[in-house]
Amino acid sequence: MAQKQKSNESAGQAEKAYRFPCPVHKKCGGCQLTNLRYAGQLSYKQARCIKLLGRFGHVEEILSTGRPFYYRNKVQAAFGRTRSGQIISGVYQSSTHNIVKVDSCLLEDKRADKIIVDIRNLITAFSLGIYNENTGEGFLRHVLVKVARGTGEVMVVLVTGTPVFKSKNAFLEALIKKHPEITTVVQSVNDRFTSLVLGDEEHVLYGEGTITDELMGKRFVISPRSFYQINYDGTQILYKKALEYADIGKDDVVMDAYAGVGTIGILASDRAKEVLSVELNPDAVKDAKLNARLNGVTNVRFICADASEAAEKLEKNGVKPDVVIIDPPRKGCDMRCLETMAAIRPSRIVYVSCDPFTLARDVEKFTEFGYAVNSVKPVNLFPRTEHVETVTLITRAG
Ligand code: SAH
Repeated sequence: MAQKQKSNESAGQAEKAYRFPCPVHKKCGGCQLTNLRYAGQLSYKQARCIKLLGRFGHVEEILSTGRPFYYRNKVQAAFGRTRSGQIISGVYQSSTHNIVKVDSCLLEDKRADKIIVDIRNLITAFSLGIYNENTGEGFLRHVLVKVARGTGEVMVVLVTGTPVFKSKNAFLEALIKKHPEITTVVQSVNDRFTSLVLGDEEHVLYGEGTITDELMGKRFVISPRSFYQINYDGTQILYKKALEYADIGKDDVVMDAYAGVGTIGILASDRAKEVLSVELNPDAVKDAKLNARLNGVTNVRFICADASEAAEKLEKNGVKPDVVIIDPPRKGCDMRCLETMAAIRPSRIVYVSCDPFTLARDVEKFTEFGYAVNSVKPVNLFPRTEHVETVTLITRAG
């Protein structure tokens, strides 16, 4: 009954959103498929994957992820002023540096959006001011909110141009009073002329400085800088498929490359003999180690290194993973990574990708190195956007 009501609600929401699309969708550019109904979005993504990947192997039917709206559990807002001096927050207009005011977005967690609007009001009330990119002076630059959907914990990161925080305690008190769901607040100081959001200097102002989420029966600590999938429901569908394709046996050594905070490797550890979790970002590796301890997992080894360097070292030391899971950023793997992954001769490679274009390029190389694509499973991890996530099973040919 509850399920039915929920699906009716989301069908209702869907209809409403198509009839009254987001007022800023043209300027923002975040929802490229705003004019397509949900089924149309799925067909579009399916066709794109067939076009790019069909020549390598079977492209299965795209998996729907259930929640077409408000799924983003990580929300970032830039702060600026209108010509008349009014403080606004939102996203950068596509291909310009102008801020488009966004108070509520169809993709973003509703709690996160409300927190950002209230921070904007508090900034005015406390006369804290915002950062000026031209002069390098002023206080607030960005706000980042991360929501752990499994536990309800909420992290707020205030990115400021200066470490000086006037009326800090009163500001925090007012913010927490308005949003008691916030479990931690971090100040990230970024005083450089850069398009990177977070600075190097971090101060924990409230709570632990991290949030903990619960996903597929395991707990994961997330810090301001480490990567964590942004669609909670969709991630479970994606990871389930990746683990199914990995088909891990109890004697298997698994390499989880591009591991982030160790999620896939830690989930895989239940079935494997050993997991080698490789990640470049030291913050993420720190979280990943903590996550293993938090879950009582003892058969995961963490390596903070470039994926190809780690694979080369493992090969030299005679370590031969049976299964390799790779989940690189959008730009895909570099040539050296593809070569070394193939050289360690795993029987299965599970490639989790957020860009079918770079996936096709990398898969082509794997086929040259003696591998073949068994199947490709697209997953609609980012509804309303053109982005397509896929899980591809690649096995040794012959
Ligand atoms: N598998 C994880 C993270 C995927 S995001 C998850 O599902 O949450 C990709 C990760 O690759 C990021 O954490 C990024 O820091 C890491 N990364 C980027 N380049 C890398 C490289 N050359 N070697 C190893 N890790 C890298």
